[in-house]
Amino acid sequence: MTKDQFGKEFSRLEAVFNFGSEIEPRARAEYFDSFRHVDLSLFRRAVNAIIDGFRPGGAEKFPSIASIYNAIIDVSPENKEEAKETQAEIRQKCQRCLNLGLYLDVNGDAHFCDCDHGIAKRASWRVPTGDKRRQEQIEKIVKKMPKSKGNLQGILERNPSGFWELTEAEHELWMIEKRKQIERIKERIRRYNQRELDKRDEKVVGSIVKAVENTISEIKRIRVSADDDLPF
Ligand SMILES: [Zn+2]
Repeated sequence: MTKDQFGKEFSRLEAVFNFGSEIEPRARAEYFDSFRHVDLSLFRRAVNAIIDGFRPGGAEKFPSIASIYNAIIDVSPENKEEAKETQAEIRQKCQRCLNLGLYLDVNGDAHFCDCDHGIAKRASWRVPTGDKRRQEQIEKIVKKMPKSKGNLQGILERNPSGFWELTEAEHELWMIEKRKQIERIKERIRRYNQRELDKRDEKVVGSIVKAVENTISEIKRIRVSADDDLPF
């Protein structure tokens, strides 16, 4: 992209986000340096996307170099291709068990999933691996089992770095469960300590009783062996 081509597109950003005035020349030169290698039509589409979607605010009154880069990535054909693949992948993937058929709950306990993979796994565990008609047997069991609820969707989302993670709502639910779990552990510790204290009390009471009993029997022994005129 030549400097003129760049200038023409860039001035559209200045028209919308800088009251129609050119930004400071050194800053403008930095922008050009950053994007001179970008294909003109790609840059134009990125500028369109920014004009449609950029909301000036906070420290960023005018689209930064980083924002324009992000827009370029968003509108680039490779990215669109990847996004398409991702949509297909998303539909094929159960977000609860990741197609493994089993998932761990917040306590680390394994469960069979309600999706097809979970049902198949559950059935397969009932048929020994050496069985010659194993597949047939598994299919028979699957038919008798409750219907699949399908791949669970909507609990994962891609974060800006491209990794799948729990949605905020799911994460919140997870945190609530985790907090409950911590409370249960604390309660167990408290009860355990209480029990230990009770045991100690029992021992103390027990030893006092023992001591009193010993004293009484000692007194009795003395009384038996002593003269009747002792003072008790
Ligand atoms: Zn599943």
